[in-house]
Amino acid sequence: MIKLLINDSKQKGLLNETSFGGLPVKVINSIMEWPKCKSCTSEMKYQGKIKTNIGLELIFMCENDPGMCDEWSPDEGGNKVIIVNNESLEYFNPENKEIGLRETEYGVKIIETAGENYDEARENWKGNKREILGSLFGEPEWIQNDETPNCDCCNKGMRFVSQLEEGPDHKTAMNFGGAGVGYLFDCEEGKTAKFLWQC
Ligand SMILES: [Zn+2]
Ligand SMILES: [Zn+2]
Repeated sequence: MIKLLINDSKQKGLLNETSFGGLPVKVINSIMEWPKCKSCTSEMKYQGKIKTNIGLELIFMCENDPGMCDEWSPDEGGNKVIIVNNESLEYFNPENKEIGLRETEYGVKIIETAGENYDEARENWKGNKREILGSLFGEPEWIQNDETPNCDCCNKGMRFVSQLEEGPDHKTAMNFGGAGVGYLFDCEEGKTAKFLWQC
């Protein structure tokens, strides 16, 4: 069985659940600086949050100058994952909403679907394939070579958390190079996470 992330408009606007687009969350009254791209120094675009046992994993990626900021790489500073582990949450905003935010928010329901791997589960899913936003845990289906990143705190290969489709609508999709796949990894010990994509 594979846990598929399925688009569900009834699950929108929930601070403490997996979702894509919309606004990121922070601990109430805490100061959180919006992540900036190491290459072009502009604000990264908030992509979404994935709920795990170590917290909400917030994915940010630069889309200011697609392809030019090494935003596909887990280690070059073109993307960033922030983990928020708290019950008291509020939304927060970038300085520039056009650069920092995606237009559409997608809520997510998790549906366990039969299959040995992601591709099989995707085949077995009876609904519209475009509503499949990715999967949670299990094994990654790599498009290119295995690029499991190493953790900066313990130097071990990180835990695979999720693989992500670009999204249901081309206009508001995440940009993983066109028909690419995003991959989220974390470290339960260090409470850190990394993101990369392939196409
Ligand atoms: Zn950039
Ligand atoms: Zn670690």
